[in-house]
Amino acid sequence: MRSLLAMFFACAVIATAVAETMFQDVLIEGVPHVKQKPDFCGEACVEMWARKLKKHIPQDAVFNASGVDPLLGRGCYAPELGKTLKQLGFNIGDGWLRIDPAQTEADLARCWRGLYADLAKGISSIVCMIPDENVESIGHFRLILGYKAASDEVVYHEPAESNGAYRRMKRDKFMKLWPLGNETVIRFRLEPRDVKDAPAFDGFTSADYCQRAMEERTRANGQKFFYVIQPPFVVIGDQGEEPVRFYADGTVRWAVDRLKQDYFKKDPAGVIAIWLFGNKESYEKNTRKLFGQAPTTPFGFYTGQSRALIMNIATGGGTLVHEIVHPFMASNFPGCPSWFNEGMGSLYEQAGERDGHIIGLTNWRLAGLQETIKNGKLPSFENLLKMNPHQFYEEDRGANYAQARYLCYYLQEKDLLVKYYRAFVEAREKDPSGYDTLKTILDEKDMDAFQKRWEEYVLGLRFP
Ligand SMILES: [Zn+2]
Repeated sequence: MRSLLAMFFACAVIATAVAETMFQDVLIEGVPHVKQKPDFCGEACVEMWARKLKKHIPQDAVFNASGVDPLLGRGCYAPELGKTLKQLGFNIGDGWLRIDPAQTEADLARCWRGLYADLAKGISSIVCMIPDENVESIGHFRLILGYKAASDEVVYHEPAESNGAYRRMKRDKFMKLWPLGNETVIRFRLEPRDVKDAPAFDGFTSADYCQRAMEERTRANGQKFFYVIQPPFVVIGDQGEEPVRFYADGTVRWAVDRLKQDYFKKDPAGVIAIWLFGNKESYEKNTRKLFGQAPTTPFGFYTGQSRALIMNIATGGGTLVHEIVHPFMASNFPGCPSWFNEGMGSLYEQAGERDGHIIGLTNWRLAGLQETIKNGKLPSFENLLKMNPHQFYEEDRGANYAQARYLCYYLQEKDLLVKYYRAFVEAREKDPSGYDTLKTILDEKDMDAFQKRWEEYVLGLRFP
């Protein structure tokens, strides 16, 4: 018995030694490389291999298929990626390979033989590795594509870098980084069984919201906020769940639905974050801390650079609706002049509903405007409409906003505003100020006479 056992082990050792010398060059060629989006390393590996298989499964689609909550702001962890791969039609094998700490070397060698055997058959694998100097993450996925015998190197696609195709790593190093902890090795075989193209999608998907949440969570740097998705926005607040849901489900959804109904066919270019700070102190402190700037108004503002609406929500939801107009205007009306951008934004900062459509109501800007009219200090509409951004924002800003707002209000009350918006967008190349379009829509040749009529109309308005 003893000698039999001894013989068995001896054979096993010889077999291993023979196997070790049997590794030869193997390489799966022609696998396109894809640079991952932040934390989508596993997702990008799947896309690369899918491309090799002539299937269309972008990294975003992999994340979308995973069902991972986008607001967590991270890509798939290994269990989620394994499940998703099966769902996408791959035979992933065991996925989890247990290692017995008592015989780590032998178990690892077995894992390697399995990986190598698949490569020899033309089947790549995604492995999860301990991050090294190149990557910051908990576990990093790489796509393994070959082995170089002469230099004893593993060949792989590195998703984290744009020039990461067909990288090489000494097998020694690979074997050190492969086990996660001292009991687990993760390898997903990518043998296609029934792989299909990902479904086409319109607008923003989970992956877009996830990337945006990730960005904002990074910005928050451990500070605790509450996150909610309200398409096409991620709404974030510092006062816990209730107020965030209140504004997301209420003001934001209400305004977006109605603005889209009458004006905006396209969503903003990317997912925009709406930050709701619950009071003046938090608004001022966090605008500085998270965005590195001072608030430009006490109520809130839109920063295109950070793609964020930053609000002191204690001042109410009016400014929120005002600011929501701007990113939509940017994507639907490129080159929109300041007067119309701010006229429309400020029209809806005091908003209501009529026959299912959003309308602006008279508001606090009225009194100042009436005063300016009485003093005879208002510019002509031609001047207002042809102001460049500097003139509009820096010279008599308050009066300009008010005049623009109540021109929009007048058009709204004459049932001409939606018509004007559409005609203006259409004519924007040859009429960048909108002045000629205004004359056409008003059917008015004498704009001095119109201004007189409009001024009388405004003087007759009341707020509150
Ligand atoms: Zn504005």
